[in-house]
Amino acid sequence: MNIAVLRETGAGEARVALMPDSVQKLVALKASVSIESGAGLGAARTDDDYRSVGANVADDRNALLASADVLVVVNRLSREDFSRLKPGAVVLGFLRPLDEPAELTPALERGLTTFAMELVPRITRAQAMDALSSMATVAGYKAVLLGAGRIPRMFPLLMTAAGTVPPARVLVLGAGVAGLQAIATARRLGAVVEAYDVRAAAGEQVRSLGATFLEVDLGGLQTEDKGGYAIELSEEALKRGRDLIAEHAKTADVIITTAQVPGRRAPLLMDEAAVNGMKRGSIVIDLAGSTGGNVALSKADETVERNGVTVLAPTNLPGTVPVHASQLYSRNVTAFINLLIKDGELHVDLNDDVVGPSCVTHEGKWVNERVAAAVGAVVK
Ligand code: NAD
Repeated sequence: MNIAVLRETGAGEARVALMPDSVQKLVALKASVSIESGAGLGAARTDDDYRSVGANVADDRNALLASADVLVVVNRLSREDFSRLKPGAVVLGFLRPLDEPAELTPALERGLTTFAMELVPRITRAQAMDALSSMATVAGYKAVLLGAGRIPRMFPLLMTAAGTVPPARVLVLGAGVAGLQAIATARRLGAVVEAYDVRAAAGEQVRSLGATFLEVDLGGLQTEDKGGYAIELSEEALKRGRDLIAEHAKTADVIITTAQVPGRRAPLLMDEAAVNGMKRGSIVIDLAGSTGGNVALSKADETVERNGVTVLAPTNLPGTVPVHASQLYSRNVTAFINLLIKDGELHVDLNDDVVGPSCVTHEGKWVNERVAAAVGAVVK
């Protein structure tokens, strides 16, 4: 079984899908691993690092694609790269199956089997493969550093001979994986932190990190599904949250928004008036930019200034921490590949409770009903 890794070509993307320690594990499972020359450089890994653990380093990207049984990527590959894979090949990575399902039609045309890391179920058995959580952890951490580096003040409370410096105030909206990591990071830097989430269960986690949980009376409304994910709220419920947020935004120095509802546009948590009500010099970092944003003014990967308030919506913060983001991702995908290897050979068992739900297309047919429905097709 030949596993191939490409050099990622997206703007600002420095991650690599497999790090050398993972390659070593796959080689030990009797797989052969080929990597495009220079693929690891952004994550501080040289071609020699890969050679030393038994990988083949390839200069010819097209030949690498043509020989791959399993292609592991961070980001979805281009249509041209899809067309160079051999029929029956397997592709594994962040494929954006629910956001951009039509972009996966080349996989159908080529008869490919595709697995999206976004679809890996969040069951206990699949925890080691949860790449969404890995990347959310990195993004939540880096968002705080980005905010701390841009505001015109310090984070911690300082008592100096020249007087007391009050701590920065950080407001985190959405206390899932990214939000909790943002809270923990901001607390470590000494900020006073408040957080809001529609899931009541998040309250305990927020408080355990030393932050204040902001509660909204939603009149006993259901806010989460059986799997523990937030559901789309009514406009009235959203408005109650927005009013509370606007009030607390007035005193915040840094606001980090992370609220998402799987498969839907991100909820709007701050309208223009809420941003206008913020202090000069404060900053909003909207981590939901790739699904439409939580903030009315945010524009994906652009800097918006409004009355001295900065609004950022970086869509790839994990790509700015490439060593650790790659290390975590690499371990996640390697755990998944483990499920696809039997005696050194490729073995796809769609009845497996992790492999099946993660599959988007198999041998050229849609397998995932939600993705198929999103392009107006049905699973046969
Ligand atoms: P996510 O990225 O889908 O959303 C981030 C947060 O936004 C969530 O906490 C969500 O409740 C919140 N949110 C959604 N709509 C909102 C609104 N209108 N206002 C305020 N907040 C809103 O979530 P995630 O980080 O992927 O995690 C979601 C859940 O899954 C959490 O309960 C988390 O603990 C759980 N989880 C479980 C596993 C596992 O069991 N393996 C792994 C990761 C996460």
